[in-house]
Amino acid sequence: DAAEISLKDIDQLAKSSFPLCMRHMLDKLRENHHLKHGGRMQFGLFLKGAGLKLEDALAFWRAEFSQKVGSERFDKEYAYSIRHNYGKEGKRTDYTPYSCQKIISATPGVGDHHGCPYRHFGEENLRAALNRMGVSGHALEEIMDKVKNRHYQLACTLTFEATHGVSCDSGINHPNQYFSESQKILQ
Ligand code: SF4
Repeated sequence: DAAEISLKDIDQLAKSSFPLCMRHMLDKLRENHHLKHGGRMQFGLFLKGAGLKLEDALAFWRAEFSQKVGSERFDKEYAYSIRHNYGKEGKRTDYTPYSCQKIISATPGVGDHHGCPYRHFGEENLRAALNRMGVSGHALEEIMDKVKNRHYQLACTLTFEATHGVSCDSGINHPNQYFSESQKILQ
């Protein structure tokens, strides 16, 4: 996992290899030029785990946030926490990306976009999001069935299988695992 991803590839990688939770946050960030704290943590640490270097991470968040709050305020209020996530500030802890279990147990409030879509989206939203990933018909109904039975990671695993055309025997338990298994198949 010494792989690196570069800034210019993020949107394309999101389409091919990000799990739904991370696609959703990228969409919302592009749309609103902002993500609340929970989203910045969940998505920021995922990108770090996927191999986005600190300098690229700062450029990535600055490009969006500066459209909303201005680059000066970005540098003053938000850049610190990004460096912090990379262990460059404060206690210099190198923070690890969140597991599915942690993300599923989050309690996103109004205006939050973090969490697990299989757990936190309403049925109609989830169906529409899966349709946008190209999942429909029997595969979609199987996924919705797992969701009804509260097997969110199994639902995500079935989505992986439907969108990659292969079986994923290990099952999905981490967004960065989803990403790296996808990249293994596509590269
Ligand atoms: Fe993300 Fe894990 Fe939920 Fe899949 S199961 S959407 S990887 S949190």
